[in-house]
Amino acid sequence: MRQNSRVSSQHLPKDLALESAEFRVRQAGEWLGLEDGLIETIIAPRRVLEVSIPFRHDDGRRDHLVGWRVHHNTTRGPAKGGIRYHPGVTRDEVVALAIGMSLKTAIMNLPLGGAKGGIAFDPKTLTPRELEKVTRRYVSELIPFLGPDKDVPAPDVGTNAQVMAWVLDQYSASVGHIVPGVVTGKPIELGGSLGRESATGRGAVEAAALAGQQMGLALAGSRIAIQGYGQVGAWAARLAHARGAKIVAVADVGGAIHNAGGLDIAMIDRKMREGAKSVVETGAGEIVGVGSAGAANVFTVECEIVMPCALGDAVDETIASNIKAKLVVEGANGPLTPKADEVLTERGIIVVPDVYANAGGVTCSYLEQCQNFAHLSWDEDEVNEKVISLMQSAFKRLHSFSVEQKLPYRLAASVLGIKTIADSHRMRGLHP
Ligand code: GLU
Repeated sequence: MRQNSRVSSQHLPKDLALESAEFRVRQAGEWLGLEDGLIETIIAPRRVLEVSIPFRHDDGRRDHLVGWRVHHNTTRGPAKGGIRYHPGVTRDEVVALAIGMSLKTAIMNLPLGGAKGGIAFDPKTLTPRELEKVTRRYVSELIPFLGPDKDVPAPDVGTNAQVMAWVLDQYSASVGHIVPGVVTGKPIELGGSLGRESATGRGAVEAAALAGQQMGLALAGSRIAIQGYGQVGAWAARLAHARGAKIVAVADVGGAIHNAGGLDIAMIDRKMREGAKSVVETGAGEIVGVGSAGAANVFTVECEIVMPCALGDAVDETIASNIKAKLVVEGANGPLTPKADEVLTERGIIVVPDVYANAGGVTCSYLEQCQNFAHLSWDEDEVNEKVISLMQSAFKRLHSFSVEQKLPYRLAASVLGIKTIADSHRMRGLHP
């Protein structure tokens, strides 16, 4: 009786993000006709750890946060995925994002599994000292879960190279020696890889170029609208601009700016370095929306390519029905609601899904680990070339499978990823 009255988060209604991640895996499993309940084994996360994080604010107040680390699939290699600091983080969202990581590593053919971690809070409300304490306490709760052969975190929304340095230090202190391979996306001085900061944006721009090529749409000369001006969006803007595309609109939480002739990206970057808190404060372009609601106007400007590069569920069906672009490239994880995805498919707009489009980040993380394990450091051009070449090989597999089987990229990507994972489960067998 007591047990039945316990409320576990597993029995609460699932977040939309988790429902859609599970739906996509199940859909791929059905398409493959997986035998013997294998799809249930694949859907279920291997481990979910929920931790309480007590800490003191600088003024002496005691406080608590809640965090998670999820190992979704570890059949093909150590669990791999970022740590997210955001007030909207929930257990279900972390599981959904971990499922996405399992698919990404499988689609990219990286010898890694899928993981994700998160703490539900806004990092901007803490001082650097408080942030360090929260990070260290979170990591100390995770020690048995972590390690280069078990689980390797990386940056995600709200975390960066400095946070990874604290993760590395806390883990290394607990095992008694430095372990650079326990995290990726760390500072270069601690064994980080050149090219890691730009890798997700670089991969997303390459994905846009490759998908565009198939549609007769050259990247050079294309008009692109980018939502999000953080690590992914800003790098996507810089790199697409460098390849001759016109960035006609960009947006962040402060709002959206637009210039039909192309925004001056160097000027936006300069103003942001000088202290502008949002792209709307840079004086570039015309402000076409204010605040996070107004920022959504970026999606519906006249352009060929839209790149949502911020948070999940940013594009709903209403926005989707007003998108004028021919191609949508998901730089963020889960930026389209399932309904928005349906609307775009019905309208014949090509969507390059997150599990491929933003896999440049984890691909570079893998290259960072290769360098750590071999005690090497490659120069930036070498890393960038390897990221691009892995993105190109994966696109070739994805595109030919989607053409052969007449599947949209999203379903083709899920099927390819789940097939790789299912094959490895079958080959390993079931213990005991
Ligand atoms: N957080 C990034 C992602 O969602 C990178 C993960 C990694 O490098 O492990 O893909």
